Amino acid sequence: SPSIDLPLLDVLHRHFGFANFRANQEAVCRAAIDGQDVLLVMPTGAGKSLCYQLPAIARGGTTLVVSPLIALMEDQVAKLSAQGLQVARIHSGRERTESRQACIEYLNGTLQFLFIAPERLRVPGFAEMLARRKPSLIAIDEAHCISAWGHDFRRDYRTLGQHLPALRPAPVIALTATATPLVQDDIVKQLGLRSAARFIHGFRRDNLAIEVVETPKPRRADLTRELLAEPARRPAIVYAPSRKEADALAAELSPLFPTAAYHAGLDAQHRDRVQQAFLAGELETVVATIAFGMGIDKADIRTVIHTSIPATLEAFYQEIGRAGRDGKPSRTVLMYSWADRRLLEFFLERDYPNPEVLHDIRRRLRSGGLHKDALRNALKMDAEVFDRALEKLSLHGGASVDYSDNVVASDGKWSDAYAVQLSRRQ
Ligand code: ADP
Ligand code: MG
Repeated sequence: SPSIDLPLLDVLHRHFGFANFRANQEAVCRAAIDGQDVLLVMPTGAGKSLCYQLPAIARGGTTLVVSPLIALMEDQVAKLSAQGLQVARIHSGRERTESRQACIEYLNGTLQFLFIAPERLRVPGFAEMLARRKPSLIAIDEAHCISAWGHDFRRDYRTLGQHLPALRPAPVIALTATATPLVQDDIVKQLGLRSAARFIHGFRRDNLAIEVVETPKPRRADLTRELLAEPARRPAIVYAPSRKEADALAAELSPLFPTAAYHAGLDAQHRDRVQQAFLAGELETVVATIAFGMGIDKADIRTVIHTSIPATLEAFYQEIGRAGRDGKPSRTVLMYSWADRRLLEFFLERDYPNPEVLHDIRRRLRSGGLHKDALRNALKMDAEVFDRALEKLSLHGGASVDYSDNVVASDGKWSDAYAVQLSRRQ
């Protein structure tokens, strides 16, 4: 078994070329090397990848990495290959022969890293293939995707939880930038982490100015243009609420500086080109729907603008978190109006039962004897809302992270809307 006295700093210098560990990294590496399951929550850009890559090297054998996005995977694979490591990946963008080759290498034990997309586990025989040669470490990147309480739930991540036992006894390290305590518990539960060491680390991003401005809809394009006018304000990401609005705003900005739209209505190749051009600095601004950005490692984004209120606070945190990863002062601006807020509240009221309703359900369930459907009828609740309430009750609590003191609201109202949402989601 691996030695706890391993000169980790040596490995850090030799393989990664870094002088020192950043906060948390060494402790996380030690836990994983020692075979402990780990839940690691650290802000984007803090250096989570190293926390599974270094233990992977130290433990030897093959580390299996599950990653939800092709771009994310390609980025990590390129970096590790450049370090001279044996790396393969399997995802929908690869040729069948390439994937087959990766499987052969995995089974031969010649790989140090195998990256897979979670939906691979739905391919018959794939999980069994993995189980034939057990990995020595399993890393689940963007682990919040496993939780329906997170902001980016992926059904395939649930499947992952079912397959993990067959891939054990390797330790599992789950990594994410955003997980409320509720989501943290859910990750541990869904992945079946065993007495996991939890490292929950600094959410505050001191170099980000978070601004919220009440702006009527017709003014938003102009304000965006003003905010990005100075070259020092770019590169920038502008989040728009719909494909149509993303296209329109991109068209408006592109005569001023290199800009493109990015959304799910564009084909995958086109999206990939936009992303590459943005990473390479050829595009200075991307106007995107929520489809853009997860895991994008671009350090120098100076501005992130939202032209309307994001659906959840987790999404907002994740999206503004893409600004200023190089630590330099960066600006995030959220535009909203009373009407936007009303719309959001409408959805919240529709989708999330309020605490009194939950309390009532709990009381009636405790008194027993009531069938679920009978109870729902008695409460005259929509089936979906009712199911959500039940799920919420079964997850029993845990307070949400309070981000509100990070927010400089122009009038305080907007953060109230989120306070409402958070309390309802608990
Ligand atoms: P995260 O996954 O937490 O968003 P990454 O793992 O992509 O972050 O790391 C962000 C950046 O920080 C990368 O460019 C990485 O090379 C760099 N980095 C990580 N650890 C260190 C370190 N100990 N010293 C210097 N740079 C580091
Ligand atoms: Mg990452």
